[in-house]
Amino acid sequence: MDFKTDNPQEIVKLLSLRGEQAEALRREARKVRLREVGDKVYLRGLIELSNICTKDCLYCGIRKSNPCVNRYTLTPEEVLQAADFAHKEGFGSIVLQSGERRDEAFTCLIEQLVREIMRQSDGKLGITLSLGEQSEDTYRRWHEAGAIRYLLRIETSDPALYARLHPAGHSFEERLDCLRRLRETGYYVGSGIMIGLPFQSTEQVARDLLFLKDLGVDMVGMGPYLEHEQTPLWEHRHLIPSKKERYELNLNALAVLRLLMPHINMAATTAMGTLHPDGRRASLYTASNVLMPNITPTLRRKDYSLYENKICIYDSAQDSFRNIIKIIQEAECSLRLFEQGNPLHRGIPNV
Ligand code: SF4
Repeated sequence: MDFKTDNPQEIVKLLSLRGEQAEALRREARKVRLREVGDKVYLRGLIELSNICTKDCLYCGIRKSNPCVNRYTLTPEEVLQAADFAHKEGFGSIVLQSGERRDEAFTCLIEQLVREIMRQSDGKLGITLSLGEQSEDTYRRWHEAGAIRYLLRIETSDPALYARLHPAGHSFEERLDCLRRLRETGYYVGSGIMIGLPFQSTEQVARDLLFLKDLGVDMVGMGPYLEHEQTPLWEHRHLIPSKKERYELNLNALAVLRLLMPHINMAATTAMGTLHPDGRRASLYTASNVLMPNITPTLRRKDYSLYENKICIYDSAQDSFRNIIKIIQEAECSLRLFEQGNPLHRGIPNV
């Protein structure tokens, strides 16, 4: 079978494959993955620094207007302890993730944490930030402190759909500008999308994949949309595809993206693991080469609830790690410890 990915129509056909034809697509993606980036899997220890957010994305459980969230910010000691655990266990990298804040106190806190994590790990731990839209100056300060990668998901590349997922004051153009700023500042840039949203067509997902390619991203984290009762999007849940359909579509999207971008880092997301018990293993087996075990202090995990029924919220960091090792073995991949696993090439934007 010939798997063409030149235009959105061809990609829609691939995304729509099911059964044996879908298996053939995923086998092809695995072949490309093994040839181009090998069977290696890198770890990024995920530290959910704070669930305080100044934004109000209509799909997100920790949006500022949700009064039911028990808000927290980890202490610097808690963050440094988690980073130390990652370093000693050989994770290679960590991700500092948080709701979006643009105030000076927050900028300063991150700057100091990044410097301290670099110092305590002798510069060996790769630091990825996932802290939303920021000014050029803030991105530069955090980069100079030692962060090398930044994740900023576009969620959808369709401006009209973006507008339906965000309230007034959330700008698609600003998000694009931030992605450009990150590239100019010198970060490895990661982005991603949600798949299976209300109002989303397969054609839009196909265009999203081509958008990520044109953007020349170095890393992608894309996963299924998962609903949350305390969000405005909940009322449109009858429009989302079934869990089985979202699962099939996500796996096909991962496979197509690996064909489109053979060298990038792709995460097997927690959202895929939440959608389906085999989600992360199947993602790794098909196309993904990065896993993000949650190393946030266990007591705080339930409060970082972007969507419902999130897995691993009661596991200790050690449990998460053991679980991850098992998944990697079952996916017939090899775990790489003490390696940062940076992308093989810097992405080259085409936009
Ligand atoms: S998706 Fe991110 S920016 Fe939007 S409300 Fe949630 S945490 Fe805040």
